[in-house]
Amino acid sequence: MQAYTDSADVAHFIGGKTERGTGDRTQPVFNPATGAAARRLVLGEAADVDAAVASAKAAFPAWSNTPPIRRARVLLRFLELMNRHKDELAAIITAEHGKVFADAQGEVARGIDIIEFACGAPQLLKGDYTEQVSTGMDNWTVRQPLGVVAGITPFNFPCMVPCWMFPVALAAGCTFVLKPSERDPSASLFMARLLKEAGLPDGVFNVVQGDKVAVDALLVHRDVKAVSFVGSTPIASYIYETGAKHGKRVQALGGAKNHMVVMPDADLDQAVDALIGAGYGSAGERCMAISVAVLVGDVADKIVPRLAERARQLVVKNGMEADAEMGPIVTRQALERIEGYIATGVEEGATLVVDGRGLKVPGHEDGFFTGGTLFDNVTPEMRIYKEEIFGPVLACVRVDDFAHAVQLINDHEFGNGVACFTRDGNVAREFGRQIEVGMVGINVPIPVPMAWHGFGGWKRSLFGDMHAYGEEGVRFYTKQKSIMQRWPESTEKGAEFTMPVAK
Ligand code: NAD
Repeated sequence: MQAYTDSADVAHFIGGKTERGTGDRTQPVFNPATGAAARRLVLGEAADVDAAVASAKAAFPAWSNTPPIRRARVLLRFLELMNRHKDELAAIITAEHGKVFADAQGEVARGIDIIEFACGAPQLLKGDYTEQVSTGMDNWTVRQPLGVVAGITPFNFPCMVPCWMFPVALAAGCTFVLKPSERDPSASLFMARLLKEAGLPDGVFNVVQGDKVAVDALLVHRDVKAVSFVGSTPIASYIYETGAKHGKRVQALGGAKNHMVVMPDADLDQAVDALIGAGYGSAGERCMAISVAVLVGDVADKIVPRLAERARQLVVKNGMEADAEMGPIVTRQALERIEGYIATGVEEGATLVVDGRGLKVPGHEDGFFTGGTLFDNVTPEMRIYKEEIFGPVLACVRVDDFAHAVQLINDHEFGNGVACFTRDGNVAREFGRQIEVGMVGINVPIPVPMAWHGFGGWKRSLFGDMHAYGEEGVRFYTKQKSIMQRWPESTEKGAEFTMPVAK
């Protein structure tokens, strides 16, 4: 696969056109494998947000009045184009994010799943109807689109996370303004162009690049009716509060510290594979990455040496190389943060079994690489246990039994994903019932729900009531209206002074 080499500035996409925008602030977009600035990103100002929202607002009446089946046909053409160009898109992701190409292909495939789901718009938007709620009277409910909605997305899934949002919003009849991550912005423009090629009317989907300035402008804009956010917990909490204060519907998905419990009866080969893949895949920069292994009973003594051997053997290199298992970290700052946490873990007294710091990849000496790191004897008071590191650092915590494993996880402030490896059906059942986490895997390390089930964590991993995509996503982008109707011929005459009841 050829690397992505477009060196032009990355700009906005407003009203169906690429726009340079009004401001002169720019920042580099790096290729994390080489450490080189590959292109410059134009940072949006409030005026650019105003232009994008105005464009989306102008497009809303026609798009929301387009029959759902015709909206679905546009999405179907977009689906075809995404399938046709999926490897190009994956290469763009690897060039700016760093994840290995096969993983980027997987990300695009999971984004495409949501587009397929959104193609079912007519079925998804069907209302409820009750005939004869009273004599001669019927009652029905419909769901109508909110209007202009915004999406603010993180760096770690520049295709998939926007796809959690905009296909569902567009299917519902909303128009959309996306503010992608400033670290890997090119995927958003690629998808914007494909949407246009698919026949989406200008203004229905817009992209404003940028940072806090663009986000804040969206949060206070009176014409933005809802905000979907995915990112770190402090920002998710800020988005939720600020958006709600300005009268918007908000779903804000935050950070994570995902645990995987290994019970003594688990298939240990599978558990080792799962921990290595889910701990170090995408360099741990997944909101569903496993960052804590909860080793029950005597499992730790059996499994830690095997994890160490595998962590040392990880093939870490430029993600475009076919045998790479782990690519670089997204930015130098993120690399420094991760390696800083490893130093903290040592100071806190955890056992550093494998130290990934300072890894140099031949030919990529300036790339943002670190190796896989493994800690043992991590305890709940340590910062490396409590805080999200968001890197290839796996912390092993030893517990005596199942009850302590459940308690440990339920006491954590995050509740995004969790897994339990066991052969015992009752343990699996009780785990699913008792655990206070939004997405649970039984012998499945990364249980990202399929497109029609919806994605969302609990506790400080999600602010708001509704999960992303699936039927909750459809509800998020629509508001319910109830209509009662009767016709003069079926109506008894005369004023009614009491609360109407079924007659
Ligand atoms: P981030 O919070 O730094 O950025 C997310 C978005 O918020 C970006 O678009 C960014 O421009 C914007 N932003 C950043 N700082 C801001 C500020 N002060 N004010 C307003 N907007 C601001 O997150 P990230 O580093 O891009 O992504 C990694 C984080 O996202 C991790 O914490 C990860 O767990 C989380 N994440 C969560 C999920 C989930 O589904 N729960 C999914 C993916 C990523």
